[in-house]
Amino acid sequence: MLLITVHVVTWYTLGIHVVGSIGIEAFFSGLSRGVLNAGFIFWALAFISALLLGRAFCGWFCWFGGYLELIEWGIGDKLKIKIPQRILLYLGAIPFVALGLKIYGALLSNWILRGFPAEFTFRLADVEPWGGQQTGISIVITAILFGPVLLYVFGRRAWCRYLCPIGALLKVFSSVCVGKIRLVNDECIGCGMCNRACEMQVDVMGDLNAYGKVHSSNCIICLKCTDACPTSSIVLSLRRKVASLSTGAAARAERSSLKRRKLTAFDVAIAVLWISTSVSFNLAGLNQNAPQEMKVLMTPGLLLLFYGLVWLGQKTWRRYAT
Ligand code: SF4
Ligand code: SF4
Repeated sequence: MLLITVHVVTWYTLGIHVVGSIGIEAFFSGLSRGVLNAGFIFWALAFISALLLGRAFCGWFCWFGGYLELIEWGIGDKLKIKIPQRILLYLGAIPFVALGLKIYGALLSNWILRGFPAEFTFRLADVEPWGGQQTGISIVITAILFGPVLLYVFGRRAWCRYLCPIGALLKVFSSVCVGKIRLVNDECIGCGMCNRACEMQVDVMGDLNAYGKVHSSNCIICLKCTDACPTSSIVLSLRRKVASLSTGAAARAERSSLKRRKLTAFDVAIAVLWISTSVSFNLAGLNQNAPQEMKVLMTPGLLLLFYGLVWLGQKTWRRYAT
């Protein structure tokens, strides 16, 4: 956040236009026009870091992740309401849809319309740092909606778990990364502290039992589980370790994994309705002229609408079928 502030002040207040936007949009837009800009360099480094240390970028560098941690530190779990847990499982598909739309809109559609650039040139100050359609009010709405509101409804790091398209992109790279949280000894007592410490809701014990390491692409290498482990059985390591859970710890890991909800027809119905409507709106350009604030509100609005409709349908079905 400090770097972002320095960047914006340097560009807009001091008028020093040397390093332009490092946003993912600048990266896609530069590539689409044959320009290797500041966004290109920034994201090339981020992708290399993802190959080494998975989504450590999300846990340690992302400015929005930093903002979420500030909000969570300020509000904690004080405001949390209980929503049906069933709504959470299928949300994992959403970041990939958002990423697909971003890549199509900012990169592929330009290549299709204007052709692949004949040559690529370096231009660091290609795109202004805070340009595009962002307005003061849309930034405030985004900050409130994806910060306290999501925290209130879905819990910690909800944006990172369910909506962030950059997280989806880094997941692709991190699936082959070498740095993982690994089990390093056989002293694990199956206490579950690692599962409880994880804000990304990774089933740490289940993964340790199945793979001897945290396998989930939701892991952001925040190291909260390693800090919480009373027996120092897990560490971040680049090297493969050969260790497995004791029989007692493995049994506890299996019991805790069984408590996790499985996908149902209800979840699939909402996911299909929600994703297909969002994609059609975007591809048909129906929301193209909508103000930025409307676009920001559309995704959660549609989710609530479809959740309500499917819930009503299910209740009515149960009532008349029994
Ligand atoms: S608590 Fe552990 S498993 Fe969860 S995100 Fe952080 S490092 Fe990964
Ligand atoms: S890895 Fe550590 S925190 Fe997790 S269950 Fe084993 S002993 Fe507990």
